[in-house]
Amino acid sequence: MRVYNFSPGPSILPVPVLERAAAEMLDMNSTGQSVMEMSHRSKDYKPIIEKTELLLRELMGIPANYKILFLQGGASLQFSMVPLNLAAGEAPGIGKKASYIDTGIWSDKAIKEGSKYASVDVRATSKDKAYTYIPEAPSPHADDAYYHITLNNTIVGTKWDKIPDTGSVPLISDISSCILSEPLDVSKFGILYAGAQKNLGPAGTTVVIIREDLIRKTPDWVPIMLRYDTHAAEGSMYNTPPCYGIYMIGLVLEWIKNLGGTDAVAKINQEKAQMFYDFLDSSKMFYSPVEKQFRSLMNIPFVTREQDEAKKTELEARFIKEAAAAGLINLAGHRLVGGMRASIYNAMPVEGVKALIDFLKKFER
Ligand SMILES: *Cc1c(COP(=O)(O)O)cnc(C)c1O
Repeated sequence: MRVYNFSPGPSILPVPVLERAAAEMLDMNSTGQSVMEMSHRSKDYKPIIEKTELLLRELMGIPANYKILFLQGGASLQFSMVPLNLAAGEAPGIGKKASYIDTGIWSDKAIKEGSKYASVDVRATSKDKAYTYIPEAPSPHADDAYYHITLNNTIVGTKWDKIPDTGSVPLISDISSCILSEPLDVSKFGILYAGAQKNLGPAGTTVVIIREDLIRKTPDWVPIMLRYDTHAAEGSMYNTPPCYGIYMIGLVLEWIKNLGGTDAVAKINQEKAQMFYDFLDSSKMFYSPVEKQFRSLMNIPFVTREQDEAKKTELEARFIKEAAAAGLINLAGHRLVGGMRASIYNAMPVEGVKALIDFLKKFER
């Protein structure tokens, strides 16, 4: 029996994608081999990476002056690559200025890593209220090399309700947990990056969408694997790319296209999230700690109203355990924030959210 997996990542994948991968496992497209066994430079593999790139360009409406890179190292390596490529000076520690907005644990990690290579100014933070809202975004400094935000905050369950206007300063965003969840105007950004394991495919691939004028020569001390120009010049094949992951992303993108693209997916995502928030807002036992205006479509943390800490911990642990026994798995909140969290990425069917709500109602009774 398949469970409903509410994991924040690696996370649920669409069943038709897994079935197709299984069907093609031993013999991909009459080549007599699996995609895992192919040389990344072979004529058999070439159409696979080309298809993935083309579909991503089409589904996200990525303009022609942006390059798509398939890298490794996760979104976390982009916390280093962004400052290394856009702000690094002749030695570490003397980089150009960059503005960051702190909206949670991931943006905080980006800030800490960025501060090694750029002169980072944290312009706003929502830490005062446990990151349950998105702060006002101040205008960039005129001499900022870039301006960094985390569009959807996976752990605390917030998302930016509007994209800040940073003028000529390139806006950079981590979109790991919201890529392709709804339409996004790529032209407003200089760089977008996402680890694949939330909404795109298996872990191991990082997608970077970068405006061509930001692919620049870096100081010589920057490692060759951490330079965007290295990967852009070689079509993501400077070294061996995550071949199988790129193939799986292609299958997920095909699935999204068959559903009707990002508009159609966004509609389903809104329906799922609305249903869940409506339940939380009407429940006597559970609630969402996030301000309504900034609620994520993808990650929905929730807590019990129990005031006594010991009872609360016990009640939440019991909920998580009983839910898992009912086939609703990975509902524990992030280890740093506690409580519960349902991640309802593109691949989570409406029925999965309904099953969770039914279980919550039963538990509450
Ligand atoms: C999961 C996640 C990350 C970390 O991704 P890795 O691929 O594990 O490095 C970074 N940012 C956000 C917003 C995430 O959701």
